[in-house]
Amino acid sequence: MATKFLLTFAICRLIVTVGLTLDPTELLRLELEGQLSLDPADVGSASRDFGGMRTAHPMAVLHPASPQDVARLVKSAYESAHGFGISARGHGHSINGQAMTGNGLVIQMSGSRGNPPPPRVSEKSMYVDVWGGALWIDVLRSTLEYGLAPKSWTDYLYLSVGGTLSNAGISGQAFNHGPQISNVYELDVVTGKGELLTCSKEQNSELYDAVLGGLGQFGIITRARIALERAPRRVRWIRVLYSNFTAFTQDQEYLISLHGQPQKFDYVEGFVIVDEGLINNWRSSFFSPRNPVRISSLNADGGILYCLEITKNYQESNADTIDQEVEALLKKLNFIPASVFTTDLPYVDFLDRVHKAELKLRAKNLWDVPHPWLNLFVPKSRIADFDRGVFKGILGNNTSGPILIYPMNKNKWDDKSSVVTPNEDVFYLVALLRSALDNGDETQGLEYLSNQNRQILQFCDEAGINVKQYLPHYTTQQEWIRHFGEKWTLFSKRKMEFDPRHILATGQRIFAPLLNPRGASF
Ligand code: FAD
Repeated sequence: MATKFLLTFAICRLIVTVGLTLDPTELLRLELEGQLSLDPADVGSASRDFGGMRTAHPMAVLHPASPQDVARLVKSAYESAHGFGISARGHGHSINGQAMTGNGLVIQMSGSRGNPPPPRVSEKSMYVDVWGGALWIDVLRSTLEYGLAPKSWTDYLYLSVGGTLSNAGISGQAFNHGPQISNVYELDVVTGKGELLTCSKEQNSELYDAVLGGLGQFGIITRARIALERAPRRVRWIRVLYSNFTAFTQDQEYLISLHGQPQKFDYVEGFVIVDEGLINNWRSSFFSPRNPVRISSLNADGGILYCLEITKNYQESNADTIDQEVEALLKKLNFIPASVFTTDLPYVDFLDRVHKAELKLRAKNLWDVPHPWLNLFVPKSRIADFDRGVFKGILGNNTSGPILIYPMNKNKWDDKSSVVTPNEDVFYLVALLRSALDNGDETQGLEYLSNQNRQILQFCDEAGINVKQYLPHYTTQQEWIRHFGEKWTLFSKRKMEFDPRHILATGQRIFAPLLNPRGASF
């Protein structure tokens, strides 16, 4: 009853605000099982994201209880005379308003308010079926009960399954297992027409390929079937340092060439240390206080060091051989002698490592600050030019956050998915994960860092380095067309097929919604 009252109120507000020509009784007939909320706290949180640089207020927020709730709401938007935007929101950890909508409703997929279906593990077939809004940390907890775990991760687990699958989902396992989108067997998706469809490589394959890496443009993922492996118990986590960029990247590329072999590291990442700022960022805990890094004592070339970060997973049963296995792999590498920092911890603690850093930053009020992040895929053939122009050039000695750099094998990415990567067998992720501070130091401010991001993109453009943005953000369709390159025709054809009124994920600013009669805005 209360839901119906709220729903009527929400619809009336929609009619007043956007001129929706919709019969309210029709939406009432949808009989949503979840909660439709106009609570300013709900609307407020759906109008913000982790980036902290944009706001857009939805009219209302739905906490769905089932895929049918999602389907009914999308269908009503699709069939209404005026139309209205619908954005699925996972955990809102986008940077540039990608999960927002200023002209319609947000479906809050993450969180337990709507009481969505819990994860279901199949031990026999080694997969888990999860709700699209489930957070990866909860997926991990549920699969560990069976001694199983997903194979491919993100560095941070408080992200939703639907949110990361809409991008790719990458971390240090991607060189071996591919991104998270390469580790999904099946999806349930609500298209922009409000149809609830199951899709996989065998069934509705066009929709399946479109949705993976599809930036929320083709449908809302309500269920994902994720591949599992036996979960390791422990992790040997190692960091070694380099002052020479070529030695660093050669070693990274060697390590990822071992994909699929038993004698390899299980995770390969790395980061750039251009200043003592490492001490202040969320990757720093590893080194201190037991392992302080004295950058000045390591003869860094131009003040820059590169840190290779690798892990080897193991079970109790092979605990006695882990030292030799790690030693044999390290022997092949050319890092600075005596710069080996090692720790050993349970698998879960390793996977959940960034959350610990989050709690520390939250305690210092440094988590909810603007985040002008820039994530780029850089082709292997130009990574040295990128190093010279950006790490040793544009950045100066102030990064305002971690800079990750690690290579991946393109053959682990399915070219049929919507995501775009550089056209080379190996490409690097370079992630500038910056936090802007309002502390009087101009070089740490939002404007300065945003300008620096623009300079980096301009440098790549002028130097002919064909980077692709990961978690891309553009404001004009021309830029999107350039981003997708050869894939644009297919991308826009799929949009016509699965979301012909352009009502989904308008916050990505790729397609203007086709609303009547007052035109559209993002
Ligand atoms: P949201 O921000 O809520 O949504 C993102 C987009 O996906 C929106 O367009 C939204 O409409 C759409 N969407 C959300 N749910 C669904 C759904 N169910 N169906 C269809 N579309 C949907 N990424 C990596 O790959 N690797 C990392 O290691 C990594 N680390 C991160 C660490 C931090 C601290 C943060 C803030 C982000 C990180 N990311 C990483 C980026 C992250 O994967 C993306 O920002 C992702 O979109 C966030 O998930 P979310 O649930 O918060 O999505």
